Amino acid sequence: MGLLALGTALEWPDAKQKAGQVREWGIEQLLANWRKARGKERDALLWGDEVEYLVVALDDAAKKSRLSLAQAEILKSLAREEALWKSGSGDNKKHSDHDGEEPPHFHPEFGRFMLEATPGQPWGIGFKDLLKVESNMKWRREVAKAHMAPNEVPITLTTFPRLGTKDDYIQPYYPPSGPALRSQFVPDEIANPHIRFPTLAANIRSRRGRKVELNVPVFHDTNTPRPFKDPTVNYDLHNWPEDDDVRNGAAKDDHVYMDAMAFGMGSCCLQITFQAKNMTEGRRLYDQLSPLGPILLALTAATPIYKGFLVDTDVRWNQIGNAVDDRTREELGEAVSTCESRFSDSRTNISQPLKNDRWRIPKSRYASNSTYISQDPRLRKEYFDPDLVVDESIKKRLMDGGMDDLLATHFAHLFIRDPLVIFSEDLEELDLNKSDHFENLQSTNWQHMRFKPPPPDKDDIGWRVEFRSMEIQITDFENAAFSIFIVLITRAILSFDLNFYIPIQRTTENMETAHARDAVNDRRFWFRKDPFASIVPRSAQQSTNGSTLSSGTSSAVNTPPPSPPLGPVETEFDLMTIDDIVNGCADGSFPGLIPLVESYLNSVNVDVETRCFLASYLDLIRKRANGTLWTGARWMREFVAKHPSYKQDSVVSEEITYDLVKAVEEMTIKEGKNGSVGWELLRGRK
Ligand code: ADP
Ligand code: MG
Ligand code: MG
Ligand code: MG
Ligand code: MG
Ligand code: MG
Repeated sequence: MGLLALGTALEWPDAKQKAGQVREWGIEQLLANWRKARGKERDALLWGDEVEYLVVALDDAAKKSRLSLAQAEILKSLAREEALWKSGSGDNKKHSDHDGEEPPHFHPEFGRFMLEATPGQPWGIGFKDLLKVESNMKWRREVAKAHMAPNEVPITLTTFPRLGTKDDYIQPYYPPSGPALRSQFVPDEIANPHIRFPTLAANIRSRRGRKVELNVPVFHDTNTPRPFKDPTVNYDLHNWPEDDDVRNGAAKDDHVYMDAMAFGMGSCCLQITFQAKNMTEGRRLYDQLSPLGPILLALTAATPIYKGFLVDTDVRWNQIGNAVDDRTREELGEAVSTCESRFSDSRTNISQPLKNDRWRIPKSRYASNSTYISQDPRLRKEYFDPDLVVDESIKKRLMDGGMDDLLATHFAHLFIRDPLVIFSEDLEELDLNKSDHFENLQSTNWQHMRFKPPPPDKDDIGWRVEFRSMEIQITDFENAAFSIFIVLITRAILSFDLNFYIPIQRTTENMETAHARDAVNDRRFWFRKDPFASIVPRSAQQSTNGSTLSSGTSSAVNTPPPSPPLGPVETEFDLMTIDDIVNGCADGSFPGLIPLVESYLNSVNVDVETRCFLASYLDLIRKRANGTLWTGARWMREFVAKHPSYKQDSVVSEEITYDLVKAVEEMTIKEGKNGSVGWELLRGRK
């Protein structure tokens, strides 16, 4: 969430004036911090997950479910309890199942109907910690619930199916629209009222020159009109200049149209942060996990409904990208000056010099990442995007300051953006022992991987890498399974020195592919065939004991053949199904992520009990990849399709939504009661 300092937030025209200064100071802070932290060694293997919830209020009498805007009250109540815990006077009895675990942390999020929860302290290197994750997640849910009104529940759907409809879907009710979002569908009160959030939304809109625009293709069922014209769009509003957007064609036929940051940033996700032992290892993990982003997005797909309609996509990612897309028409490569040129071939504009902006920018600031950063001899120049946009003067400053080309390029790419929320108080004096200006840009570059430098004021935190693409899952069994899977993959990557490099544009393409309905079963993704390909002899590996997730020996995996000379890059990767990628190709061309993880587990001799425990999580991933088990998206589609009141017209009514939320709540209650849910619940989805 970045920093939440209080102060006077600048409106866009003023913020724009100060953007250069913030970038410059941010880069000086980065350089100072990088010089101090680049030699940090032997930081512990720590990791942590972030789970996000929707707070839903259930009205069983009226069979209605609504988003509850109670975030502030719930967090206040949670903070009181945390203070009691800390002072030692809290009621710890109910936490006897969580001996030695710190009480969970709760954080605000963009939506005033959202909560984020993290473990009380990061998880460590021991395998035993993996066994605590699921129960800790369930504990977090219980603690959150205990601070809600009796009819409120924390649920882990990515989006609320009827957000932005004409119902009274929020509690308390506020009608649209307000000065910050200027949405015709949602009120400003939907967002966290902290000045940072309305300013962020308003400045994105102002910078862009119109409202954000989300058009999600509708799912055409047998009774869905063709063309489908979003019946919830009002073309006759005249409250704000932005109300013209829809008259200027913002809402597309056959799409569900949305117009505010809340439709994207109001989505819940599952993020995992790893601490590396040093910067070099962090850079390696960043690169190697990057190609997995779209694969895990498709595997965790859980977003088939927007604004009361079934849509033809299964994941949230691009909708968040669109919800915070602050690019101007010029940066987007659209014509700006005349009316006709709006409809002319955009390619003719690409070559024209820009009048107001510095670059054409191909991606939203929320998008898949666009470059690699590891000083790895296997990183071929062909894997880079030759058209990557970087701020050359910033890159030069970083390199003059001693940073290497790759890392300087990464940050000079992030810093092509403007800072969006600037507090005038922070511009008085540059403090090189802080990272506020750096974080201003870093934390509003929402890429699917994030490289997190150590905070300058905390010696005990090292270089970290965050994996950000996954969708939140309905049950904590699933959330734990995906968290643990990613942890084990990182261990396999480090242990076997795995090579997942593909040209970065293929990952961008994969990210699009992951959006398709049932991509997990029906689509193919670019993936590297030989994960052992190396052009340098791998260093001798030390042996390990079986109690930690160390990056130990690689002896359990076939010794790689001597490296062949480098062939054309195109022969290194292929289109594969998710089943191929996760479970291995039948023809042996790719071994599969699960078999790689199993080899890693064999190599570290984990005890039988732990191995059995982990097996149920790996089974979920395996079976989701091969189509035996459904994604959350598929389960929701089936739920809607089978609902007695569904009319095959793509409409997900209030009644269906209430029943869906109830079914989700029941699933999590059952899961909480039964301990580890195992297969029963998930089989029920077939
Ligand atoms: P952000 O919201 O900026 O991504 P959070 O502060 O919410 O970051 O924390 C992300 C996760 O990182 C949490 O699960 C937390 O437990 C974990 N974490 C905290 N410190 C470390 C660390 N030193 N190494 C690895 N993970 C950490
Ligand atoms: Mg967080
Ligand atoms: Mg965050
Ligand atoms: Mg969050
Ligand atoms: Mg995070
Ligand atoms: Mg298959």
